[in-house]
Amino acid sequence: MLGGGVCGLASGLLLARDGHEVTVLERDADPVPESVDEAWENWSRGGVTQFRMAHFLQPAGRVMLEQELPDVFAALVSAGAVRLDVLGLMPPNLTDGGPRAGDERFVTYTARRPVFERVLGAAAEGDPGVEVRRGAVAKELTMQVGKGTPHVTGVRLHSGETLQTDLVVDAMGRSSQLPRWCHDANIGPLHEESEDSGFIYYGRFFRSADGTTPQPFGPLLAPMGTFSILTIPSDNGTWSVTVYISSGDQPLKRLRDPDAWRAVVEACPLHAHWLKGEPISDLMAMGGVIDRYRRPLRDGRPLLTGIALLGDAWACTNPSLGRGITLGLLHAKCLRDVVGSPGASTMKRITIRLPDPTINLLQKQATRQGKPAASLAANLLQTALQSPR
Ligand SMILES: Cc1cc2nc3c(=O)[nH]c(=O)nc-3n(C[C@H](O)[C@H](O)[C@H](O)COP(=O)(O)OP(=O)(O)OC[C@H]3O[C@@H](n4cnc5c(N)ncnc54)[C@H](O)[C@@H]3O)c2cc1C
Repeated sequence: MLGGGVCGLASGLLLARDGHEVTVLERDADPVPESVDEAWENWSRGGVTQFRMAHFLQPAGRVMLEQELPDVFAALVSAGAVRLDVLGLMPPNLTDGGPRAGDERFVTYTARRPVFERVLGAAAEGDPGVEVRRGAVAKELTMQVGKGTPHVTGVRLHSGETLQTDLVVDAMGRSSQLPRWCHDANIGPLHEESEDSGFIYYGRFFRSADGTTPQPFGPLLAPMGTFSILTIPSDNGTWSVTVYISSGDQPLKRLRDPDAWRAVVEACPLHAHWLKGEPISDLMAMGGVIDRYRRPLRDGRPLLTGIALLGDAWACTNPSLGRGITLGLLHAKCLRDVVGSPGASTMKRITIRLPDPTINLLQKQATRQGKPAASLAANLLQTALQSPR
């Protein structure tokens, strides 16, 4: 498993519990922190740029965890993740909003990303079937190259060590080097569809003195004309407030100034109360976020075998919709099922293909998010250009 982020760790656990020997190689050397506070304040995770940005777990991600990794789910709740019933956010003027069978599937639990990853990291490191090696940087793939399709046989680390494997999983996230490695080996190019999502995010975390989180007075994601506000309750009395804009909107880039950012949120009557807490982070900005979908195929044929792409390395989606982790968890489950299926017995030569109905669903989810991101960003900019300044 190349990469020990959320998807690499979750997938490693699922595969190990299905009887496979798993080694997770993680570039960042910092060990899993002892406490939630230490994870938030000190965990150095340069390999994940968005590590301290707002993260929401969709109900489908919670369901996957509860069913497939119940110990991880229980540890997440013990770590202080907060229960959120998405149906509770329905507008009061919806009069037929009474309870119905199956409503419980809309419940989720949310936590700050470092808290979630600490829970997953501890579970993976405590599992006898998973070896997690932190500070281990994958440098290139080793391959068998002959007349047929090149086959990945393992990975070479920056330290010079080589690991031989039945299957390599690229869980290296948005910054996966797989395309470059393929290029260097005269393979490819990989099939890729991508576009800039067109947003800049300005976000900050807060904490209450009494362990509560603010009451939402509207949807968590609220379009406000030329910008949007995203408020996410989180673990242990913490929450995030994120304002995001079109990256083409030059005047609104002043939001990187904490006073300007605060003034904008304060001016929004349904959101100003989310500022009433102790700031526990600086104002963080992130732009240049790509929506991307990648496959190791050309004309429907595999460019190389013995490798699977997972999570953000496979598809990174519009962060505003908060689906990346959930999609990655569902993807990890598919991968476990495919690797464990009878057709996968010839592991050495297998090209990992997720079952068609599942890959179609995931693909739809992934690509459906690309277009709205760019067009929503364009709408924000359009509104901004029409507004008198
Ligand atoms: C601003 C922003 C906000 C977001 N908000 C949400 C949200 O609210 N909800 C949500 O579900 N998703 C959200 N996402 C998406 C979410 O962060 C990703 O979907 C998720 O991190 C993907 O996990 P991953 O394990 O695939 O990749 P990552 O988390 O990126 O992990 C990849 C890992 O690979 C390691 N690595 C890289 N190269 C190497 C190498 N050569 N050798 C060894 N290790 C390597 C890295 O150090 C890293 O630990 C957001 C994304 C952004 C950018």
